[in-house]
Amino acid sequence: MKLHFYGGAGEVTGVKYLLEIKTGPRKIVRILVDCGILQGGKEEFEKNQNPFPFDAKKVDYLFITHSHIDHVGLVPKLYKDGFRGKILTTPPSRDLMELVLNDSQQIIEKEARGKNMEPLYRKEDVEGALALIRVKKYGKKHKLEDEIYYKFNDAGHMLGSAIIELWAEGKKVVFSGDLGNAPTPLLNPPAKITEADYILVESTYGDKVHENRDKRKEILENIIEETYSNKGVLMIPAFAVERTQELLCELNELVKNNRIPQLPIFIDSPLAVRATKIYKKYPEYFNKEASKSIKEGHDLFKFSGLNYTEQVEDSKAINRIMPPKIIIAGSGMSAGGRILFHEKFYLPDPRSCLLITNFQVRGTTGRKILEGNKKIKIFDEEVPIQAKIASIEGYSSHADQKALYKWLSNFSKPVKHIFAVQGEEKSAEALVQLIKDHLGISASVPKSGEAVEL
Ligand SMILES: [Zn+2]
Repeated sequence: MKLHFYGGAGEVTGVKYLLEIKTGPRKIVRILVDCGILQGGKEEFEKNQNPFPFDAKKVDYLFITHSHIDHVGLVPKLYKDGFRGKILTTPPSRDLMELVLNDSQQIIEKEARGKNMEPLYRKEDVEGALALIRVKKYGKKHKLEDEIYYKFNDAGHMLGSAIIELWAEGKKVVFSGDLGNAPTPLLNPPAKITEADYILVESTYGDKVHENRDKRKEILENIIEETYSNKGVLMIPAFAVERTQELLCELNELVKNNRIPQLPIFIDSPLAVRATKIYKKYPEYFNKEASKSIKEGHDLFKFSGLNYTEQVEDSKAINRIMPPKIIIAGSGMSAGGRILFHEKFYLPDPRSCLLITNFQVRGTTGRKILEGNKKIKIFDEEVPIQAKIASIEGYSSHADQKALYKWLSNFSKPVKHIFAVQGEEKSAEALVQLIKDHLGISASVPKSGEAVEL
């Protein structure tokens, strides 16, 4: 079989892997794993407009590891270009895909109107793509076609996220998807897989160990207390799915145990409100403690002082409320969304704080802030940064170098080759070196557009 790397190779986002499997003298089954959008700046935006480097009509199946936009963002474009095969994923991923794709379609259409260009895809393409989805739960091996089998396993990265095992041509390929940063307040640790011939492993943090992993809640507590005594605003850019729910869980505990002073907390994201509803629908996908707590009747995403703001008017009204206050809003990389309005307002305020809790892709506003820029362009306006910039890497939803290594150490059957993917080159290379030196397995960082015979 042949494996093509069309994205997520030497880069974090835009994930697309195409497997061509021979099932007869002339028959080839084509499986695409993920179909993500590239995130970042102008260059990435332009690349997303390019035609796919393969024929969408000839793809038979699309497997989805999870519903982050860098893994699913181009699925409607695939449909628009003629893909009519089956999409396979887990039940929560289906619901979350519907949510994030409808949201991104609106953003894309608005952006295209502003630039006077054809949008990447339209609403009917989202609907068409969603209609092709068939869901499967974790843990059961299914037959795809004669002599091709697959299984979804819990990746612990976001609700419904999966590690995919695929058997074909007498070989086994494992796609890690994104691997979670266990333990988390809501999810299980990534499932242990013990056998593979080939592994595609994520490497977002292939060169880093998350600092202060165990102290993350105390650091969050300290930052809140500091902002409170400064009478400032704590802004937390967060992905509407997973990061927001995880932060809510942590804040819930801090509030319940009186570890932080009483102050209003705003979830200023209509998307996060809808995502939280989906989370409540799937308690069986949570870890033991979280699902036990839900069964006992606790609402993990509701507590005193917490306000969800869906309407634009309510969002604007947040600014009229006197600090101290906490605002959690998207996007998680300050690449758009309501967080930008708050950043424009409060970044020039030395009493306030911007807290980063997730990976910031190169080229995004969030990355520029994190790198220490003293001013930033928001809505074509220069905004001076006087607020404190803090970051807690321990809240990352990605496994760090140590956890990736540990996950890879579970494989007992001799692995032929490991591809380090979904990481910037430096971190992917660092993980490859570690695999070669300590696991003695052949490994490499594939290049975008590269194809290998397995
Ligand atoms: Zn992800």
